[in-house]
Amino acid sequence: MDTAYMNEKFAYYHNLWEERKRDGVRRFLEGAPLSACISRVSLALSNMCNLADIHKKCPASTAGAKQIMKRKNIEKVVKDLQKVNFKGTIAFHLYNEPTNDPRLFDIAKYVKANLPGAEIFLYTNGFYLCQDMCDELEEIVDCITVTAYGKKELERLIKLKVSCGFYTFLGNLDDRLIQYDGESKDTLSKTPCRTFFDQIAVFPNGDIGLCCRDSKHEYSLENVFQGRKSFNNVIDSSKFRKFQTELLSGNREICDLCKNCELIL
Ligand code: SF4
Repeated sequence: MDTAYMNEKFAYYHNLWEERKRDGVRRFLEGAPLSACISRVSLALSNMCNLADIHKKCPASTAGAKQIMKRKNIEKVVKDLQKVNFKGTIAFHLYNEPTNDPRLFDIAKYVKANLPGAEIFLYTNGFYLCQDMCDELEEIVDCITVTAYGKKELERLIKLKVSCGFYTFLGNLDDRLIQYDGESKDTLSKTPCRTFFDQIAVFPNGDIGLCCRDSKHEYSLENVFQGRKSFNNVIDSSKFRKFQTELLSGNREICDLCKNCELIL
């Protein structure tokens, strides 16, 4: 049995995203501001996931008090991105399940209307994804990725008729929860990391994490909802530039999270 399925449209986006990342790195190294080189902004609508209680290895299972990203803060980021004519991807996940959120369709429509040059990317665990939801989603969303937990679930998902970009694969839970404390068994990597070109990870309270692995946002470089700086001014600060420059040079000693990281972005 296949362990993944990708339609042609998703393959197109996959290649486009890789191209954007490469191009972003090139322009950054030539001196362009980081905000002009990013390809995706992930706005985690909340810290809630319907599978958190059964996926004990997932950071969502340790989320603590419930949080949602306030609508006014989502609109702030969208308006800031509008000013720079952002043409990349907007997603609504980090360690939350976006289809759990009753605001999802409305927020996705708002983003689509206000950032017409951007794609909407939905990453879901697929629990609520049925044919009717797919039919409604594809009017707003450009591509969907689903982590399928179990072979039967993968078989069910592959049978869905989805005309936007669609990718589903058999999921597995890794040891990312212990990556902070250096107990990971992964081999220390010196491979360059393109984290901010891959995505800017905005947690529900506005913390910008280092990447998807920074689930506790312990290493957040700044909070985009506090203070009066625009989203672009926040990520154009010297902290972000220095951090990304070190990682591009292959220096993963920069913090414990990166030290223990085998991920290649
Ligand atoms: S090296 Fe790993 S932990 Fe550090 S930013 Fe890159 S992906 Fe994240």
